[in-house]
Amino acid sequence: MSFELPQLPYALDALAPAISKKTLEFHYGKHHQAYVNNLNGLIPGTPYEQMSLEEIIKSAEGGIFNNAAQIWNHSFYFSSFSPQGGGEPEGLFLTAIQQSFGSYAELKDQFSKAAASLFGSGWAWLVRKNNGALKIIQGSNAENPLREGLVPILTCDVWEHAYYLDYQNRRPDYIKAFWDIIDWKVVGKRF
Ligand code: MN
Repeated sequence: MSFELPQLPYALDALAPAISKKTLEFHYGKHHQAYVNNLNGLIPGTPYEQMSLEEIIKSAEGGIFNNAAQIWNHSFYFSSFSPQGGGEPEGLFLTAIQQSFGSYAELKDQFSKAAASLFGSGWAWLVRKNNGALKIIQGSNAENPLREGLVPILTCDVWEHAYYLDYQNRRPDYIKAFWDIIDWKVVGKRF
């Protein structure tokens, strides 16, 4: 099996000013593509060649895990956005947010703090546990919640390559803008 870079559901300039065309050209066109190319170069002749991306993430270690998880994480991240994004979650998803955090504002605050305080490179995640409760976790480097049996709902990439061209060292400004482009219809369906 050979993996491919998924198409973006919007134009490269569609998320500006939150995320610029230049950032997407590098982050999607170069970094995400490189993880795909790397994995396709690593798996021939290994048991991972016949596995789905999720199966590889759950069972691999080292470079194969890192590249597989980074493909999955970036596809998940990029598909969470829309130029018509922003607003607030609705329906049963909003009810679950209120049960787990008290309010959407509190989720936003706790998630933003987790993303801002993650040391080094990694991802902030909103995940659903087996009992239906929502939880915020931090993952270093390529970590992925599927490995712990958690259902990923939303993620923010806080590797410097995700924001440095637009925000330089100002990671909190990138996190603030992140909320303006979230497609809650897509994210709510994951719940
Ligand atoms: Mn990234």
